[in-house]
Amino acid sequence: MIRFYNTLTKQKEEFTPLEGNTVRMYSCGPTVYKDATIGNMRTNIFMDTLRRVLKYNGYNLKHVMNITDVGHLVSDGDEGEDKMIKSAREEKKTPLEIAEHYTKLFFRDLERLNIDLPEIIAKATDNIPDMIEFVKKLIQNGYAYETSTAIYFDVSKLDAYGILSGIDVRNQKAGARVEVDKEKRNPYDFAVWIKAPENHLMKWDSPWGLSYPGWHIECSTMSQKFLGEVFDIHTGGIDLIPTHHENEIAQSKGACGKIPAKFWMHGEFLLINGGKMSKSLGNVYLMEDIIQRGYNPLVYKIFCFTAHYRNKLNFTWEGMDAAATSLARLQEGYYKHLEGNKTISQEVIQEYKQKFLEAINDDLNMPLAMSVVWDVVKQPEKSKQYADLLLDFDKVLGLRLQETQRQETTSLELPPEIEELLQKRKEARERKDWAMSDSIRDALKEKGYQVIDSKEGMKVEKIK
Ligand code: AMP
Ligand code: ZN
Repeated sequence: MIRFYNTLTKQKEEFTPLEGNTVRMYSCGPTVYKDATIGNMRTNIFMDTLRRVLKYNGYNLKHVMNITDVGHLVSDGDEGEDKMIKSAREEKKTPLEIAEHYTKLFFRDLERLNIDLPEIIAKATDNIPDMIEFVKKLIQNGYAYETSTAIYFDVSKLDAYGILSGIDVRNQKAGARVEVDKEKRNPYDFAVWIKAPENHLMKWDSPWGLSYPGWHIECSTMSQKFLGEVFDIHTGGIDLIPTHHENEIAQSKGACGKIPAKFWMHGEFLLINGGKMSKSLGNVYLMEDIIQRGYNPLVYKIFCFTAHYRNKLNFTWEGMDAAATSLARLQEGYYKHLEGNKTISQEVIQEYKQKFLEAINDDLNMPLAMSVVWDVVKQPEKSKQYADLLLDFDKVLGLRLQETQRQETTSLELPPEIEELLQKRKEARERKDWAMSDSIRDALKEKGYQVIDSKEGMKVEKIK
């Protein structure tokens, strides 16, 4: 039995797909106006683990992720400039160039982390006519109204706006939000469609003149278009609960009277040294920074598995060092089992498999699942059956266990400094960073160690 925590009901519930064997799922994807951080990637690792767990349980997936390339304003509500246009102005590029550049980098990071791509990737700008139809429907149904600047959703028309985050709009006074548009009927009303000021770069013809979609309407429209009015799971980061997802629910209720997803699952934030990641503190890290420091990107993935996705996770470089050791131990443990010749009873294998399954099916309890993985790695009896079991677990972990080459060293007692350089070189080679690999080889030579690369792996000898 699979159980997931549902933000909507605030409890763990048994999960089964609404229809047949296919799970229909929607994930709020990136706004492609800047580099994705390792924080964003934590949310994507959560999404990937969820996909892998569902597949491991034998389900098919129809998973949609959107790419927001218009309409996400500087405030997550509906105020300020469009993030894409702000970025285009600052970088002296067109919004299209900005979108293409950051979309490419985003997918490169997903690939580095061995994150499987959703079946459908939907760009907001490719789905504008459907969004216009959605807005028309909201107006027809009496849930939206036009002002001189936008089409607003009237939250007072819903009996339960705030169902996901528990806000009670009746207690909110006008002015509670930063800027109040005098034409708004209620302070919590939000823009579904925005009229473009003159010289605005991204705009489309619509019944309301040249204009562009609001961020929230994009997700409501694309989820309904590709997955239907009600689908199984909606995911995102925890910050999306109070505004974006609340507004998606409001829009779907306005359009068809239904909450669009049965399960709402949210990933907690990554903290840096116990606090927020922010430009002003100079502690915004990208996958690129992790690679620059010589780590295999998958070290970050195994680092993320040390916390449950619903708990905050504190990023430190010491934590990354520990994770690098874990990944190396896991790989070495796999190879040791692969060389083993012991026979293990099927009962024992099945017991481990069952424990692993129970952990992942209990709301993706990856720390517990990893403890089962370590139990198998540490077994003193070396057996190919255990190696196969670890490969089976890797379908969920996605740590490319089979694809990484084993680090072969001679039985030389190596100083820790040399061990560390060898590990960094191995990771550089895994990500095909030949320049880094060569410079580490030279550094080793200077310290009196010769590295020999072969198909079987890396060997080190002391220069006489
Ligand atoms: P942003 O680039 O801030 O718009 O973030 C895009 C999405 O990534 C957010 O909606 C969050 O769901 C997620 N996200 C941002 N920062 C973090 C973080 N520090 N930890 C986990 N997820 C994050
Ligand atoms: Zn969304």
